[in-house]
Amino acid sequence: MKKWLLLTATGMLILAGCKKDPAPTPGNTNATFTIQNCASTTVQGTYTAGTPLTSSNTITMQVNITKTGTYNVTTATINGISFTSSGSFNATGVQNLVLTGSGTPINNGTYSYLATAGSASCNFPVTVSPSIPNFVDNDHMLFGNPSRAATLPDSTSNYLMRKAYYSLSYSQARGIPNWVSWHVFSGDLGSTSRQDDFRPDNTLPPGWFQVQSNSFSGSGFDRGHNCPSGDRTSSVDANSSTFLMTNMIPQAPAMNQQTWSIFEDSLRRLVNLGNELYIVMGNYGAGGTGNNGFASTIAGGNVTVPSTIWKIALVIPNGNADSSRVNINTRLIAVSIPNSNTATGSWKNYRTSVDAIEAATGYDLLDRLTTSLQAVIESRIDNL
Ligand code: MN
Ligand code: MN
Repeated sequence: MKKWLLLTATGMLILAGCKKDPAPTPGNTNATFTIQNCASTTVQGTYTAGTPLTSSNTITMQVNITKTGTYNVTTATINGISFTSSGSFNATGVQNLVLTGSGTPINNGTYSYLATAGSASCNFPVTVSPSIPNFVDNDHMLFGNPSRAATLPDSTSNYLMRKAYYSLSYSQARGIPNWVSWHVFSGDLGSTSRQDDFRPDNTLPPGWFQVQSNSFSGSGFDRGHNCPSGDRTSSVDANSSTFLMTNMIPQAPAMNQQTWSIFEDSLRRLVNLGNELYIVMGNYGAGGTGNNGFASTIAGGNVTVPSTIWKIALVIPNGNADSSRVNINTRLIAVSIPNSNTATGSWKNYRTSVDAIEAATGYDLLDRLTTSLQAVIESRIDNL
């Protein structure tokens, strides 16, 4: 019999997601035991995205041994980590089973792990902290989270992905990022060649459509980088990271290869002149004009072709404590360009204010700056 109700010492009935069937002999093990009290399962250690687990990352679970012998309890690998315990029980009765974690958490957020002992099982949650504390110099999101994106599986239209070389908000329905945010400085610019290893992003939540490397083929649109390959040439890892399809949008080829490409070069020139930049690139709307004419979606409807593509770049002379060095004279460049092969010519013709992009998207860009400072620099249109 499956028992879903657990009687506590106070006599109150609480619901627990634990089954307490006797465990049959699994695989090459011969102990028999049940999970005694799933609700009392505890998580030890700290969990941080990008930081490998150690022997201090353990799960303690109460089990009741009815027959001694060998055992093996292992969870699936979720978000890059799993938990396992194996050995032998030498006595019957209730005792603690300690599962040890391994692997490296990929994203922050809370993930559920299922431990199974024979036919008995127990779900336990593990919460992973963001990879980099907020307000750390050079953090890709030092100046804010424009759409309040969150790394939660139900945040399907605004899913936060914190990666080593950039951060982004992803839309499952559109199959593209809403925006990508990154810091670039001289240390990012090296001699690594373009890796061209376009590939699906397998760190999206389970069940989400993963845009494939060939999903844009024949569409008449380029696989347009958000964080550019050219901004990540310090190592093979760095450059390769920009070829994940979660960093791509379908971009009109003439606009991408001329106007946009020269804009990217111009920003890297500012880095070479002794500046560090905080950049956010995003898009909105549906419907662009590429080599095959107009389209609102491609890839069988799984990928939206945005109608407008924008980018902002905050330009700060090289130094430390970046957030304290922004003032009313800080250069802030913003452009907004139709996603069309006819949108050619100098990027300078497409300059706009950050306020105009905020009005069109509903985002609050650079929200970590004071509102009075935002009011000054976000209303200005760059004219250098
Ligand atoms: Mn504003
Ligand atoms: Mn703002």
